Amino acid sequence: MIPERVAAALREARRPVCAYVYAPAVAIGRIAALREALPTGTRVLYAVKANSNPDLVRAISAHADGLEVASGGELALARETGAKEIAFAGPAKTDDELAAAVTAHAMIHVESAHELRRLAHIAQGRAVRVALRVNRAADTPSGSHRMTGTPTPFGIAEEDLDTLPRDLPISGFHLHAVSNNLDAAAHAAFINDALTWSEHTAARLGITLRYVNAGGGFGIDYTGDTTFDLSRLQIRTPPKGVTLAVEPGRWIAADTGWYAAEVIDLKRNHGRWFAVLRGGTHHFRLPAAWGYSHPFTVLPIDDWPHPFPRPEVSDVPVDATGELCTPRDVLTRGQHVDRLRVGDVLVLARTGAYGWDISHHDFLRHPYPEVKVLRHVG
Ligand SMILES: *Cc1c(COP(=O)(O)O)cnc(C)c1O
Repeated sequence: MIPERVAAALREARRPVCAYVYAPAVAIGRIAALREALPTGTRVLYAVKANSNPDLVRAISAHADGLEVASGGELALARETGAKEIAFAGPAKTDDELAAAVTAHAMIHVESAHELRRLAHIAQGRAVRVALRVNRAADTPSGSHRMTGTPTPFGIAEEDLDTLPRDLPISGFHLHAVSNNLDAAAHAAFINDALTWSEHTAARLGITLRYVNAGGGFGIDYTGDTTFDLSRLQIRTPPKGVTLAVEPGRWIAADTGWYAAEVIDLKRNHGRWFAVLRGGTHHFRLPAAWGYSHPFTVLPIDDWPHPFPRPEVSDVPVDATGELCTPRDVLTRGQHVDRLRVGDVLVLARTGAYGWDISHHDFLRHPYPEVKVLRHVG
């Protein structure tokens, strides 16, 4: 269950173990597979907010067609890591961020009429690349975070497109709509529909369509075996002169990461076993944020140098809980263990996306996890 190179890295980690291990090769493999599945010429961008570890982003940057960024900080990182192309979205871009995006020749996904006017003013005649982020009237596919076809702060309402200021040339549309959609066939239908809608809308508005960005949202199943099946991602060839782009974050990064935390104590109270960890939701907040149990694998550590007995349980369900002084610091509830000892390490796979980056690191001021980025092998 734990790849040997990950286990090897963890056996060399400082004790008590608390670490993220990242394998950029996994993300690079995902990008290659996705490119293979999509029509020739489709740009595969990586959404940096899923995991902005600079070593990982640098490795991804060398293989993806570009990076999607959502802040001035991510924009700076994208430039430092040599992104071939930068796309910039975000509902509250500041003037400074817009100016930096113009300087970086980024494709700016504009989210309101006011932002469009501000951008035209900031550009002062310099070349700007603009796509309109649209909150379409129609419903979107299933997934966890619907962002269009429903009221959100993202994008321009479809009905407002006709009255937008026209002082900047528009390349096309950005239609990111959903997160964590596991149904690849439904996602393909969404992307194909995005192409059709873009053609019609561009024609109606008198825009020469060159760019359609269908966003991210490719799903990861954290608790089961469902995979986003690329063979069902049947996308039609975009019209001549139109570049299709996608920008997944989660699906590229999730499987590049393992979060590992050593068992500091094992205790039972009110009939439940708790494995208390050096780590927790301040490093990996996703299960607490989404309200699910993230599965773990036990990495047995046989070494026990102490003169006192080693606490141990076998054949029981345990809750994996963290070092924070709050009952909400729970990574996993009731997972069965054959054997678990103080000093063993719980390893949580699939923690490379929206893990460290979304967590409240400084709550309680525990030391940060070690971060180990594996070299590109296999
Ligand atoms: C977050 C985000 C993404 C990536 O979403 P995933 O669900 O991680 O694929 C892509 N585009 C935009 C605009 C985003 O905000």
